[in-house]
Amino acid sequence: MCPKAEIKTYDFKGKKALVRVDYNVPLNDEFQIQDTKRIDASLPTLKKILDDGGSIILMSHLGRPKNKEYQFSLQHLIPYLENVLPGVNIYFAPECIGEQTRKIANALRPREILLLENVRFFPEEEAGDEQFAKELASYGDVFVHEAFSTAHRNHATTAVIADFFPNDKMYGFLMAAEIENLSQVMNNPRRPVTAVLGGAKISSKIQVITNLIKKVDNLLIGGAMDSTFHKYLGGNIGNTLYEEDMQDVAKQILATAKENHVNIYLAPDKIAADKFANDAKRGIYDSKEIPDGWAGLDIGPDTCTLYRDVILKSSTILWNGPMGVFEMENFSTGTFMVAEAIAKATRHGAFSLVGGGDSVAAINKFHLTDNYTYVSTAGGAMLEYCEGKILPGIRAIEK
Ligand code: AMP
Repeated sequence: MCPKAEIKTYDFKGKKALVRVDYNVPLNDEFQIQDTKRIDASLPTLKKILDDGGSIILMSHLGRPKNKEYQFSLQHLIPYLENVLPGVNIYFAPECIGEQTRKIANALRPREILLLENVRFFPEEEAGDEQFAKELASYGDVFVHEAFSTAHRNHATTAVIADFFPNDKMYGFLMAAEIENLSQVMNNPRRPVTAVLGGAKISSKIQVITNLIKKVDNLLIGGAMDSTFHKYLGGNIGNTLYEEDMQDVAKQILATAKENHVNIYLAPDKIAADKFANDAKRGIYDSKEIPDGWAGLDIGPDTCTLYRDVILKSSTILWNGPMGVFEMENFSTGTFMVAEAIAKATRHGAFSLVGGGDSVAAINKFHLTDNYTYVSTAGGAMLEYCEGKILPGIRAIEK
């Protein structure tokens, strides 16, 4: 599949570009941006349009507003945008659509930006309302999708709007790169390929596991997810978090891995705790022999050595989900070790892709962000892509 237009060759001169970005940035109580990465990452796309002599109508969501709460207003981002785009006039429309917004959009001159209010202030956005999308579309000449993290949503500005630009729709630089990296991992990876999956639940990642099993050579399982497998295999997992109703699924996953000659690794040992707290009493136990009343909260040292070994021998590595309760210092070692091993493998030439809120939070915490081939902040979208689904935001541009 090939998109109809490409940002690098498209001439935006004299055009108004509707650009959907993900400016869902953290703000403090004074509404100052705590992490500007998402905005910074969109700048090459914005600059290309402005440098060509085009203008921009920026659309984004921020947070999960229920009733147009002031804290979720996109106007808080204007000072930063003015700072990183010096000399560019930035206007703000308090309503996404309507007479006033249309007027500002019509009056927009080349190299100017109109920032629309949080699209999620309007229920039509999440409903994927066609009229809302149509009205927005009428303000611009071209649609640029630069919000991969929303691509799994069939919302008005993340998918539906593209229908109104049959020839003038494209990915922004960032979204194009995310898709290219993911497609390389899923369709044309260098082998051996290793997927590292952790986190709390099998149930939230079952489709990913099922799809990945057909594509990878090794699957390393960590986090609480691994306990459901040990429980199914008859182990004593004490109080470790697991999913009773996922044992059949665990059985099926193990069988499919065998059929596909995939090496599936379960953590042989755990660091267990007598309570769910950083200052809990800790001990190293076989994952199948955790004492009653204790819970495995991190992978153990033998697992660390085993997983590190597999990671260092891999040419492509995909990671989603922490190996333990990494938010607590005393149970963050396994996650740190995996993060470091993937960083080392990458330095030695492996292709690595890390995605998902918790994994990205972990590598930020360990200051390892720059050590991977690609870090995707798009947790949900990335997982659904790895499940083999065609995401609405991608379909909208490709069709
Ligand atoms: P997920 O959203 O499924 O990727 O899960 C991430 C969460 O799983 C993090 O908040 C971790 O603290 C949690 N987690 C990972 N390992 C364990 C464990 N052994 N017991 C309880 N929670 C865990």
